[in-house]
Amino acid sequence: MFRLKGDFQTLDTYSPLLFDLGARGLEERPGEVWAYFPQRIELPLPGEWVELPDTDWLEAWRRDLKPVVAGPFVVVAPWHSWTGQEKRIVLEPGMAFGTGHHETTRMALEALAQRVEPETRVLDLGTGSGILAIAAAMLGAEAVGVDVDPAVIPLARANAAANRVNPQFLTGSLGAAEGPFDLVVANLYAELHVHLAPQYPSAFGLCGVLILTGILLQREGLVREALEAQGFGLLERRQEGEWICLTYAK
Ligand code: SAM
Repeated sequence: MFRLKGDFQTLDTYSPLLFDLGARGLEERPGEVWAYFPQRIELPLPGEWVELPDTDWLEAWRRDLKPVVAGPFVVVAPWHSWTGQEKRIVLEPGMAFGTGHHETTRMALEALAQRVEPETRVLDLGTGSGILAIAAAMLGAEAVGVDVDPAVIPLARANAAANRVNPQFLTGSLGAAEGPFDLVVANLYAELHVHLAPQYPSAFGLCGVLILTGILLQREGLVREALEAQGFGLLERRQEGEWICLTYAK
């Protein structure tokens, strides 16, 4: 197992490389990401190898994975059974970010559920597994998911098909999908929200709702300052552990 310092957000750019090089699974631990490989290989990344006893780690990880409830949704893996009343989002975990196990995804699902109504036009910026676009579509939205990583687009489409919804998925960023949107949800990271702040208004018509997460508590101030400078008004703030989700009105 290869230990890298950081979390899924900060190591976002490494995960496709790790999977390309043969990683069988990634796991987030406090301050670290553990990447499981069948054997040691030469890795062009800072970190250290730890020898583990010969267990089927992928099987153990799959066995330990629990369904996640977030607002009106439950996120389950294909092998889970669930009899609750929640809307089931079935996702094959471990392929792209967005299984519902991260605080930021859960908060975004809760915030979306409060704001989406049938026919709301929703943009999921940084769609990953497609989970937020899928959730929005389940609530009746006309949803589009975009991601700069072209590798996640077929995964997001397959996840949507497994959930019998049909959001559009496109490679690219804020300009890739044709607006205007009523709601934009973006689970990225604080510095990227600050960078994108001057472009966020262009996604909307006269008004709209912007849900931003992926923000660490100590960077919240940067995001709030940047969004307020663009005339967005804070509607709601969520916090889970050290992660923040901000809902704004334009
Ligand atoms: N939306 C999912 C969720 O909430 O769990 C996945 C979020 S994941 C933290 C961030 C995703 O944003 C990654 O799939 C990454 O490739 C994508 N991304 C990073 N920078 C981006 C940008 N500038 N525009 C669009 N997508 C971006």
